[in-house]
Amino acid sequence: MSRWKPLIREGELLLNSPARSFQVRIVLYSAAEETPRVKAVVVQTVMRREPAAAGTIEAATIPMPELTTRAAWGAKPPRDGYNTQTPHMIVVHHAFQPDHAAYTGPATIRGIQKFHMEDRGWSDIGYHFLIGPDGKLYEGRPPTAVGAHSPPNTGKIGICAIGNFETGQDTITPVQRDVLVRVLAHLCGQYRVATDGIRAHREFQSTSCPGETLFAQLPKIRDEVAGMIQQARR
Ligand SMILES: [Zn+2]
Repeated sequence: MSRWKPLIREGELLLNSPARSFQVRIVLYSAAEETPRVKAVVVQTVMRREPAAAGTIEAATIPMPELTTRAAWGAKPPRDGYNTQTPHMIVVHHAFQPDHAAYTGPATIRGIQKFHMEDRGWSDIGYHFLIGPDGKLYEGRPPTAVGAHSPPNTGKIGICAIGNFETGQDTITPVQRDVLVRVLAHLCGQYRVATDGIRAHREFQSTSCPGETLFAQLPKIRDEVAGMIQQARR
């Protein structure tokens, strides 16, 4: 049996049920003098945790970090409007491309919007918030609008940290991480989302997003958010 590995690199394994981790067992068979043949491949998965039900959490007032509005980054209006939602989860993404080196501020956000609207055919930029390596927080869709980032999208707020957080690539900058924690705390307090509801894109789709190194920080980030919420309720 292999060691437990998180799900999943692009395209390696597709599951129609949610899972957090998988392990693989390959059984080889060989008769004398024969090249071993694969006799069996066994894939086991572990289900993800379910967050607390929406609305069971007490609200908390934590200020939103300074926001670069859609007008300020030069957003186009949504093409087909939005469907509305009540947020109960927040999904963390990385951009993968552009990475930190390719980031050029608002022009990068306009590029992502163009890609989502023209290439993907979506109504608007898919995420609700984006965070640059310089700590700039960009406004995407309103949190009460259904996004396009992690199907099934309804009820999920999508936050994209610009960069490629695969091992050996970018590392989230301290200011980018700080803004991520603060916007998560604000949104959890505002929409009464449990910190268990802060999730990684890879928990819902066959993708490595938000990259190995950011994914590894999520438990610590959840703890920091919980600390801020506790502080605000005092
Ligand atoms: Zn993602």
